[in-house]
This record gives sequence, structure tokens and C-alpha cells, in this order.
Amino acid sequence: MEQEAKNVLVVVQNQCDRAAIYHLMIAKTRVKPTARLVEVFSAIQGEGLNVGTRQIFIRFGLCDLRCHFCDSPHTWNAPSMCKIERSPGLRDFEIHSNPVPLPILIEWVERQNLPSLHDSISLTGGEPLLHAPFLAQFLPIVRSLTHLPIYLETGGHRPEELGLILPYLDSVGMDLKLPSVSGETYWTEHKKFLQICFDANLEIFVKIIVSQKTEPAELERSAMLVAAVSQDIPIFLQPVTPLADPEKFSQVPVTAPTPDQVLGWQALMKQFVKSVRVIPQTHKMLNQM
Ligand code: SF4
Repeated sequence: MEQEAKNVLVVVQNQCDRAAIYHLMIAKTRVKPTARLVEVFSAIQGEGLNVGTRQIFIRFGLCDLRCHFCDSPHTWNAPSMCKIERSPGLRDFEIHSNPVPLPILIEWVERQNLPSLHDSISLTGGEPLLHAPFLAQFLPIVRSLTHLPIYLETGGHRPEELGLILPYLDSVGMDLKLPSVSGETYWTEHKKFLQICFDANLEIFVKIIVSQKTEPAELERSAMLVAAVSQDIPIFLQPVTPLADPEKFSQVPVTAPTPDQVLGWQALMKQFVKSVRVIPQTHKMLNQM
């Protein structure tokens, strides 16, 4: 890195400036940005605050977590090929090789973006923030070309990478991982992540996957964590969808909670935050992707 860029990095503290500095670094290294994708397609969002809206989904490869309930284990490793829908919603996929250069992905997204069809672009995975350096270059371009809001779905455990793309996001759905359900523990990172989103005035919600094994004490701790940032941040409890082939990916069986459990948990969490909604994965009911 050039000395000039190093000096600026030391001085600048806030998240937006970090993204600007990243651009400077990329420009100097002349690295051609590429991404490892799983698929690009148009569908109805089935989870969280944007449920029912039409989105262009960009599903990135790679994930550094191993949630017991994961329904996308095919995203964990870098795929050699990706599936790209030609026409929005028609499932007329082409197969392309990875990694994908930035201008090609722009082309594919623009092809999907028919007038007035989509409400937003969903960055999903895997963990999209593992592609933060790529996104820091991709997002400003795709925003200005499509004029669509950018929605990030994330495990909420990488606040540093979030800082690189913060200026280009409109909304964030942050998974809060419960140790008893996901096998992952990220309380400190989740709190920091949520605070960054809130301070940046992004539309944000928290999604928590719950199963019969969910510990009420963890839900109470989750609600307190969210309330410490803002009582107005909505929480979505999402009953786990049982995996079709659980033993293939996880040794830990996950079972959907009982009706009594979700009623009790909602009441418990509403002591701390204003909105706790219970919604299963509706895209599975609608046969969406
Ligand atoms: S973060 Fe998402 S993609 Fe990664 S293991 Fe968990 S559920 Fe699967």
C-alpha cells in the first residue's frame, strides 16, 4: 500500500470514511474485483420485515458459520459454478463459472431489473459480508444503475466488514444466533453490529431461529441486547424449518417449537422490545427459491 493511503487510514475513524479509503486502496492495487456466487434470481422474499416483497436475490458463496439448522449448506464452500436466471421469475437458469467479474454481475442484475417489478435487491448467502471488498465496489454502481434499495441478510457477526459497505445499504436483516439452536455464539459481535446499523439510520430487524431446544434465558438475553440499542428494533422469531435430510449436514436434530413455546417466548421478549413477530419461512410454503 502507498504511504499516503496508510497515513489517511490512521487518521480516519468513522465507518463511511473507511469505505472511501477502501476504494483508494483498491484503485492503487488495480485488483479486478470478482465474486464467488451461488445464484442470481428474482423471487418473493419469505422472511422478516420484507416478507412478500419482490427482490432480485444475489446469493454469495462462502460462510464461516455452521448453524445446525442451515438450509443452505451448498453455500459454505466456494462453488466452481453459479446459476444465473435469465428472465425474472422464469427459472431459465444459465450456468456460469466462478469467480464472476464485477461488470458481468452488473449486467445480470440489470437484465433482471424490469421496470417497476422489484422492490429491492437482496444480498444473501452464505455470508455476503465475506465479500465486503467486492461489495464496496459493486454496490455504489448497482444502486445508481437500478435505483433499487439494497437489503443485506447477514449472520451479524462481522461488524468490521459491515463498515466497508455501510454507506451503500438501505436495510439489514441481522440473524441473532442462539447457542442452543445454532451452535454459534456471537453476543458481543451482534451487539456491536446492531449498534452500527442503528447509528447509521438503516432500517433494521433481528431474526432469531427458534426450535424446541431454544432456551428462554437466551431469548431474554437477546431481547435485552436489542433493547439496549433500541426498543423499536423489531424481532422476528422464525420457527426452524425441519431439514429434509438432516443427517447429511448436521449431527444435531432440530425440531420446530410447539405452539405453547412460541406464545410464551413472544410474551417474554415483549417485556423488553415493542415488536416481536412469529413468522415461519413463507417462501417454502409458496414454493419460492
Ligand atoms: S449463517 Fe446462514 S448460510 Fe451460514 S451456516 Fe448459518 S444458516 Fe447457513
